[in-house]
Amino acid sequence: MKETLAALNERISLRTKLTTMSVALIGLLLAVSSMGTMALLRTYLQQNTDTLLTSTAATLSNEDPLLLEVRLATHEVTLPRLPSDYYIAYLDSTGNLLIGLVSSANGKNDVPNLSGLSLPYVKATGGMPFEVEVNSKYADKRLGNWRMVALPLSNQGGSVVVALPEASNAGLIAQYGAIGTGFGFLLLMLSAGAIWVTITSALRPLREVERTAAMVAAGDTSQRLVERDKSTEIGRLNASLNSMLDSVDDAMTSRNNTVDQMRRFVSDASHELRTPLVTLRGYAELYRIGALKKKADIDEAMQRIESESLRMTELVENLLALARMDESAPLAKQQTNLVELATISARDSAAIGSKNKIVIVDLDGKKLAKDAEVMAAVDASSMRQVLTNLLVNAAKFSKPKGQIEIALAENSGRVVLEVRDHGEGIPAALREKVFERFFRADNSRNRETGGSGLGLSIVKNIVTRHGGDIKALETPGGGATFRVTLPTK
Ligand code: ADP
Repeated sequence: MKETLAALNERISLRTKLTTMSVALIGLLLAVSSMGTMALLRTYLQQNTDTLLTSTAATLSNEDPLLLEVRLATHEVTLPRLPSDYYIAYLDSTGNLLIGLVSSANGKNDVPNLSGLSLPYVKATGGMPFEVEVNSKYADKRLGNWRMVALPLSNQGGSVVVALPEASNAGLIAQYGAIGTGFGFLLLMLSAGAIWVTITSALRPLREVERTAAMVAAGDTSQRLVERDKSTEIGRLNASLNSMLDSVDDAMTSRNNTVDQMRRFVSDASHELRTPLVTLRGYAELYRIGALKKKADIDEAMQRIESESLRMTELVENLLALARMDESAPLAKQQTNLVELATISARDSAAIGSKNKIVIVDLDGKKLAKDAEVMAAVDASSMRQVLTNLLVNAAKFSKPKGQIEIALAENSGRVVLEVRDHGEGIPAALREKVFERFFRADNSRNRETGGSGLGLSIVKNIVTRHGGDIKALETPGGGATFRVTLPTK
């Protein structure tokens, strides 16, 4: 049973629920207020009746019963205007009826029960109104009780009773009740209609949210909700949903970009690896079919195999370096003297056989002292890789024994590091492209040296992760200059 109710509750729309609840509440309030009004009305009418009965009884208690009818007819006595049928009776002191006056057309049987109204009993009522039943067994019981006031006669023994049927008040109350119920019902219907319309229009924006969500779910992430006044609940909901959709859209775009980049990277990498592998297989095959007969041929083949293997090793190492960077391991930044770092890199480059002279200078080309300091918060090993890659390129594209400068300076919260060579330089159109993965300008040196095209993209990645940037420029007088700027902190 409980489950059926819960299931039903889930199936009922919010609009129906809200309308039903509001109408039920209004109905309850109407019922309570009309019950209160009815109670008040009943009390008011009763008090009114009682006052009338008391004052009429007081007037009649001073009259001689035998003269009353005459005095009434001649208007020597006037009674207050009673609202409906009334009953007046004079009783002797034992309670026997002397005279009974009924204004009613309901019939003689329809009179109040007068038994037991002896003078002592009447005195005991103290003139307070009380209820008595209708007298006759033939009378219509539905007419109900009579409200009565009994007073002792002032001039002689006996008493007078004045009574009004309660049915007159009850009829009025019932009439009021019927009118009240009718109006209440009408009011309830009208408010149900008004609430239904209001809720329907209030929930309309939610249907818009529903439609938009469905379109987004179907793949159209560009859909947005209408901007509404932010002081309303719907306005705030729409704004939050729109910003959520923006984030989802951004996340999807960046995910798609990453996937595209990854796909391109994998296809470029496999293409790059295939070239040296084809060369290796070619020489192996030549050897197997016995095409390499002379020692000189074999020597040359071996030399090519060695150089291709070296190229492949370099490529794989670079790929690994890039892959590690993509995992974006945090940098271990520390305040480092870049002059020292440059000195070490220069020494290393000489150690691996570079014939070029490397000098460390300031931005104006003046040689820096050995103990000079240009401090920046960098990850020392990554920064050495930057210097090494730039120096290897500078050496590769310079004239043999040409000079290479590493220029260093601090400039308003940023550090500038330049690697300048005086080689063939980079055409202006390619200065942006050289940082792309696998990009190699088709120049003569490249054809000879056959680099992987990854060195500069590794450099750029490291520099960017340090919050810096890198540009390729032309060295005054010819050659390439790579300018790196880094924040000092
Ligand atoms: P590679 O392994 O081919 O050197 P890089 O990413 O380091 O890959 O460089 C990309 C391309 O940029 C090189 O192929 C070359 O054409 C150009 N380049 C880089 N450094 C220099 C330089 N110092 N002088 C001239 N061209 C350069």
